[in-house]
Amino acid sequence: MENTSQKQTLGFQAEVKQLLDLMIHSLYSNKEIFLRELVSNAADAADKLRFEALANNALYESDPELKIRIAIDKAARTITVSDNGIGMSREEVIRNIGTIARSGTREFVASLTGDQAKDARLIGQFGVGFYSSFIVADRVTLVTRRAGLGASEAVRWECDMAKEAGAYSIEPAGKAARGTEVTLHLREGEDELLDEHRLRHIIHKYSDHIALPIVMGEETVNQASALWVRPKAEITEEQYAEFYKHVAHDFEAPLAWTHNRVEGRQEYIQLLYVPAHAPFDLWDRGHRHGLKLYVRRVFIMDDAQQLLPPYLRFVRGVVDSNDLPLNVSREILQQSRDVDAIRAGCTRRVLELLEDLARNQKEKYARFWDEFGRVLKEGVAEDASNRERIARLLRFSSTHDDAETQAVSLADYVGRMKEGQDRIYYVTAETFAAAKNSPHLEIFRKKGIEVLLLCDRLDEWLVSSLTEFEGKRLASVARGELDLSKVKGGDEKEPDWPVGEYAELLRALKGALGERVKDVRVSRRLTESPSCLIADEHEMGANLARILKAVGQKVPPTKPILEINPQHAIVKRLAPGDERFADWASLLFEQALLAEGGQLEDPARFVRRSNELMLSLAGG
Ligand code: ADP
Ligand code: MG
Repeated sequence: MENTSQKQTLGFQAEVKQLLDLMIHSLYSNKEIFLRELVSNAADAADKLRFEALANNALYESDPELKIRIAIDKAARTITVSDNGIGMSREEVIRNIGTIARSGTREFVASLTGDQAKDARLIGQFGVGFYSSFIVADRVTLVTRRAGLGASEAVRWECDMAKEAGAYSIEPAGKAARGTEVTLHLREGEDELLDEHRLRHIIHKYSDHIALPIVMGEETVNQASALWVRPKAEITEEQYAEFYKHVAHDFEAPLAWTHNRVEGRQEYIQLLYVPAHAPFDLWDRGHRHGLKLYVRRVFIMDDAQQLLPPYLRFVRGVVDSNDLPLNVSREILQQSRDVDAIRAGCTRRVLELLEDLARNQKEKYARFWDEFGRVLKEGVAEDASNRERIARLLRFSSTHDDAETQAVSLADYVGRMKEGQDRIYYVTAETFAAAKNSPHLEIFRKKGIEVLLLCDRLDEWLVSSLTEFEGKRLASVARGELDLSKVKGGDEKEPDWPVGEYAELLRALKGALGERVKDVRVSRRLTESPSCLIADEHEMGANLARILKAVGQKVPPTKPILEINPQHAIVKRLAPGDERFADWASLLFEQALLAEGGQLEDPARFVRRSNELMLSLAGG
């Protein structure tokens, strides 16, 4: 049995120690943020108390006025931040404060580079929170009592880096007042922080938006009203940014935001932010997302996922409803038509915000696309009602400039379409290089027809839900029969071979390749390479089949069509009666497979055969 009535010393996990060290070093130039983080936690604790008290008013005890106090003790060289919020039980202290080793910590630590500026940003993405105290303090003491528990059930947590880095102690404590008190014993040389003016300045800078009074001496230092309720004109950019850091638990300022008071059937205020960087766990299942939900200023829940569709899960912020009941639960949110209306409203505002960036702040939009484009793409499949709008926001690489940076919109593409061109052409491949150098593009390049280069895995799903844009069908360059005869411009004529002339060769190749191909035909797309593989019009493309296989899905067997280029020297020398004809046929097939990023069934045999053919040509 665990004895909880005595002092216990517990160790941090190894990664936590490492992370603390890194945090202290890389964030030192920003050390003031410790106060912002402690105040942010105190404000969250007050929100939680107010919410729990809705169901149990006794939790207020005899102390209903929620506030945060900051006190300096010059003689002891300490700063103390205290709140009368929800407080923590012993288990909660161990769970929340005892360790930062959330899922992904090890991977995260491994991703740090040693470059201070870069690592500071990464650590910021991970969330610095309570541990930022250690930037300025070497000993931190936290005494807390959860609302509703008796004074003797309070706990005292302490971590003394100077004495024993990597461990903390926990023991019972007496605390009459509900809530949490954090005392920082400042490191040597940090005495400037013991100056009251300095602390007031820091509070103004970072925590003015906090809705609770922050009191120093007898005076309230901040505005103490919910930021989102204030008129837009009275809120500065800095205040918007600092409020974002509080709600998003982010270290960096946001990229953009939209703040609106919505009236009508549902009345609510929305303050929605697009972060500057994707959190490190955006693609994890456990990734926390969603908005903070308030009802008439009372905090209801974090991560209210129902308020935005999954493809906007990177958005952070607050919705404050005038109409939802205070006892609204996650279950109710899932079924409520009122919530559907709020979600539709938030979705519309975020899309408008992105449209505005795309139109008026292209550089910002490029940054957004870089960070979150892959998430937004999911919306094309998920949100049929906004498909066209989302499609306009997509950005791709294309043969227009062959740049890997995705900057071409479908509207750009359509604007550059050739006379007579009625399709939007794309190629999908596993990597950008494979897409760019795909033999399927040869005739398109010759004729100057632009092709989108798709190499995100998600693109396969994207093109399966986005079949057209502005009435133009999207078409893969590696699928079906190709007919560019109506497209004007470019001197190059599409090769058009008299098929009869090659009938015997095609038959012989098909015979030699047997089950490996569905058909062999003369290509209208190749001008340089000897061969390529094509999917039949209604069959699954090879790239998608490879992706599905890689994630362990069953894929219906499909056979490609081999296309050959009769103009190519190798093809020209093929003679069906030749003793090495079958080897040449295999080589054409395998090269085509390799060129599109496919895998050979028997690579060693391919190598042997290639060597034999080379030797035979060399007269060996
Ligand atoms: P975050 O705020 O992003 O969750 P922190 O490191 O700042 O991360 O805090 C970790 C957790 O510790 C909080 O989520 C909360 O559960 C708990 N906590 C911190 N400070 C307080 C406080 N003053 N009152 C109650 N709980 C707190
Ligand atoms: Mg925090």
